[in-house]
Amino acid sequence: MSIVANAYNLLVAQGVSEENLKAVLFTHLWYRSKDNEYVSESVFDTRSTFGASSIFTRRSRLQAELYRFATEISRPGNPARILTGVNIKTIDPSAGVVVADTGETYVGDLIIGADGINSAIRGAVLAKSSGPGSVIGISEGTAVPTGIAAYITVVPAKLITSDPVLAFQADGVAGICNWETPGGKLRVLCYPRDNMEYFQVLAFVSETPWIDEFEKNKTSIIKGIPAERVLKDFEAFHPAVKKLLSYAPTLDLRRIRDIEALNHWTAGKTILIGDAAHAVTPHAGQGCNMAIEDAEALGFLFKDMKLLTSSSASAPAPEITKQLALFESLRKNRAHHVQFKSRHIGGLLKGELKEEAGEYDSAAREAFAKMIYGYTGFEAVYKAHLAAEK
Ligand SMILES: Cc1cc2nc3c(=O)[nH]c(=O)nc-3n(C[C@H](O)[C@H](O)[C@H](O)COP(=O)(O)OP(=O)(O)OC[C@H]3O[C@@H](n4cnc5c(N)ncnc54)[C@H](O)[C@@H]3O)c2cc1C
Repeated sequence: MSIVANAYNLLVAQGVSEENLKAVLFTHLWYRSKDNEYVSESVFDTRSTFGASSIFTRRSRLQAELYRFATEISRPGNPARILTGVNIKTIDPSAGVVVADTGETYVGDLIIGADGINSAIRGAVLAKSSGPGSVIGISEGTAVPTGIAAYITVVPAKLITSDPVLAFQADGVAGICNWETPGGKLRVLCYPRDNMEYFQVLAFVSETPWIDEFEKNKTSIIKGIPAERVLKDFEAFHPAVKKLLSYAPTLDLRRIRDIEALNHWTAGKTILIGDAAHAVTPHAGQGCNMAIEDAEALGFLFKDMKLLTSSSASAPAPEITKQLALFESLRKNRAHHVQFKSRHIGGLLKGELKEEAGEYDSAAREAFAKMIYGYTGFEAVYKAHLAAEK
């Protein structure tokens, strides 16, 4: 996955190890037709433009680094105790009580709902925080299908470096290559990871033939689709691109969904962050980046907190209420903007919204980059808020 300047600079401040991430520096964007004809190439140099690098890494390596941040004894604060294999079934957001499917109960002064796009906590938070009109849009906080799904596979770098028509992607630079049909109905993305030993390949298609299977099995991922089936969808693509899609005998297909912008992320002692609060489509590559921004913001707001008053059984301590309200009010516009822009970039806006947004052209791209990649952390946001209040 790509971790770009706005979040990578926050990870660097925490002492992230490039070595542990097997990070690859992200510096280029290539656009090509389905026939692998050159359309454009641009430099994506966030270090010189925004003062922070962007990288590619593997999800599990990033997770291991975040685990290290939370548990290392040498870091400030008490190391977190992490319980794995606990499936949360219900939550009382006001009381701060979480119940697992085993019946085990956990009680906290603060509950952070970081349980992803299918969040079990979101429903309880919205029910408590809201009343009608708390959700901007149509769906009451449930995941919204976008009509798109993505085949996902990984190929060894030699498949790219040994092919003269693909080797530009590994010629001393690294970035995302995008091949697409006119209008972008079919699209293949390819980018490196693991010190450039492997490349991740995503191939976007209409979800229509797969909707029944997604719905019937109540899943957003279908595993083990034969490569021959995938090649049928991409038969019009250049043989070199098809080679990427047929390297592995089977591929997984992930349904691409997001959620509508929510007006509230908090209720009582509970707050939603990451995809649970503002899941986006992958078109702007910002989902994980925004989750990292959320975590850094919470870290800032709670770093010196000593509870002067205690929580009651049904209400949080006032200090907690104040910080959660600050988090929500200072993070919401940015997160909503990324949700909207992700749909805009993906060509998923409809009706009036589509008309109003217009083309996602170079001016729109530049404005988005400036707003998103130039982020330096929550302290600056908080200081600007204090200055505006004076
Ligand atoms: C194809 C694709 C490509 C993407 N590429 C990028 C990219 O390049 N860059 C980027 O920034 N983002 C990318 N994203 C988005 C990114 O994956 C998500 O935004 C990110 O993982 C959200 O992090 P999260 O911690 O909020 O949720 P998640 O990563 O979904 O984590 C939620 C966690 O909660 C756990 N959980 C859920 N329910 C329960 C329960 N009831 N009890 C206990 N635990 C529970 C889950 O097991 C999981 O561990 C991509 C997404 C897709 C689909």
